[in-house]
Amino acid sequence: MSEAKWDLGQLVESTDPERIMKELDKMVDTSARLAERYRDKVSELDAKGVLELLETMDTLALRYEGVVIYCQLLYSADTTDPVAKQLNDAVLKASTKARQHLAFVDIDLSRLLQSFPHLVEEPTLSEFKHALERQLLRAPHLLSETEERLIMTKDQNGIHAWSQLQREWLSTRSFTLEVEGESKTLPYGQIIGYYSNPDRELRRSANQEVYGKLGQDETIWSSALRAICDDHVQTSTWRRFGSPLDHSLLVNDLERKHVDALMAAIRNGTGVYRRYLWTKARLMGLPKLANWDIVAPLPNAPDETHSWSEARRIIVSAYAGFDPQIGRWVEDMYKSHRLDGEVRKGKVSGAFCQDWYNGKSAFILQSFNGRLDDLYTQAHEQGHAVHAYLSSRAQRPSNCALSMCIAECGSIFGELLLTDKLLSEAKGDEERQAVLCQVLDGFGMAAFQVSARYFFEWSLYDTLSEGGFLDAERIASLWTKARDDIYGDAVDWLPEMKWEWTMKMHYYIAGLRFYNYPYVFAQLFVFALYRLYKEQGPAFVPKVKALLSAGSSRSAADLAMEFGFDLSEEAFWQKGIAQAEEFIDQLERTI
Ligand SMILES: [Zn+2]
Repeated sequence: MSEAKWDLGQLVESTDPERIMKELDKMVDTSARLAERYRDKVSELDAKGVLELLETMDTLALRYEGVVIYCQLLYSADTTDPVAKQLNDAVLKASTKARQHLAFVDIDLSRLLQSFPHLVEEPTLSEFKHALERQLLRAPHLLSETEERLIMTKDQNGIHAWSQLQREWLSTRSFTLEVEGESKTLPYGQIIGYYSNPDRELRRSANQEVYGKLGQDETIWSSALRAICDDHVQTSTWRRFGSPLDHSLLVNDLERKHVDALMAAIRNGTGVYRRYLWTKARLMGLPKLANWDIVAPLPNAPDETHSWSEARRIIVSAYAGFDPQIGRWVEDMYKSHRLDGEVRKGKVSGAFCQDWYNGKSAFILQSFNGRLDDLYTQAHEQGHAVHAYLSSRAQRPSNCALSMCIAECGSIFGELLLTDKLLSEAKGDEERQAVLCQVLDGFGMAAFQVSARYFFEWSLYDTLSEGGFLDAERIASLWTKARDDIYGDAVDWLPEMKWEWTMKMHYYIAGLRFYNYPYVFAQLFVFALYRLYKEQGPAFVPKVKALLSAGSSRSAADLAMEFGFDLSEEAFWQKGIAQAEEFIDQLERTI
């Protein structure tokens, strides 16, 4: 077996497709039997009964975890393989059926908690305490079973259809680009690869071609976004939410005051980001950056690639330098063949880490080409794996359902450990500049560009509540306003960039309003933690391990308190920005 290929056989007793299909059938049957047992019974449960129900649900999820993950990963490793396709389709159908059988449990349990809130405090249920607290908070916003089903059905032909249209538009359009004197016709997935091309003119024309074409269909995008926002306002009212943001706060296990403090730090920190953009312009030999330069590679970046084994050495030692036990786990991922880095046709693009609770481990997929950003991707995904090693050893399965804010902590922290390692091994200023720009480009996008999307999303709802109409030009002007509040005069934009909002798939996905601020949260949170690690050294290591071990058993605000920080204070978030400033200082010292 190739060293850079995973072994999925360890997930299942047998890889025989027929036996796997039988297992999936059994999963649906077991769910149906469980539904029968609890139908109309949940409202009568006492603490002991609730415990039994929750433990049974955990056991069910674990019983079929291996087979479910196997089908999904097999398909992501080769989407063209007929068996993988068939199993992926089977697992999708079986999971939906199983979920439908048990959908009432969540609603009934919420109602029970509403009637007997003291259950949350029962010592018997202490391991589920935070999950139950969150369920109790959601309870007042649930509708009746019939209404919930109606919403699901309506969404199938409403918001899901918009999302499908957006995906299909992007995957069926072709774009023209002049490359080395030759006119090429490219699909979306390929032309966006030119955004990071070393050739500046190619980057510019790729951006102009894509956003120009997106803008030609402005009516489609504005109709979609208008309908999605209106639908959200309406549904939020039915669900008795006070603001369009509230649903996402429940999902992300946060309070409004935390997000307000975070965003105040961003507003007051734009000067730091702009300082970086001006510094990058100097490094690129430009008077000012244009939008197609923001995340472009530096012209003098060393053209060095890393082999798989070299990447493995660097990444293991970056983590082992932080903590030997974590280093051993990262090494275990390679040794146990749980990483798939091979570049193959049919493999899904991008990278991800899939937790594997039963194995107290995880699986990672990426297409590894040996470039610096591939190294960062691998370190990032390994951070997710470390998170899984820690949380699965300390928590029950239902306490490993991480909120988006906490889910990115291990991974971003891992990127910073890699940065430390690469800077310590760098052979010259050009290598140091490439590493620091890699980190600061990522930080700028996740903390500041994504914040522009947060402010933009608010401006859409504000416009609606003032009775305004969201046509394409109006939306475009709201976007450029939010963008310019962040970037100021540090960047020149192509006029076509006013259509940037049209391609962001998150805006079109059901149940994902305000998807953006958790990314900003994670970025600043981890930069702040890293700063503390630099200040406190080894004494800080157990705290980070405790944070990652907690899984979803406590809220982020609660966990931050452990470090003595209040997430509702802007000063905490400023620590994260101060760490970015420290990297900018380092970068400037190399010029
Ligand atoms: Zn991630």
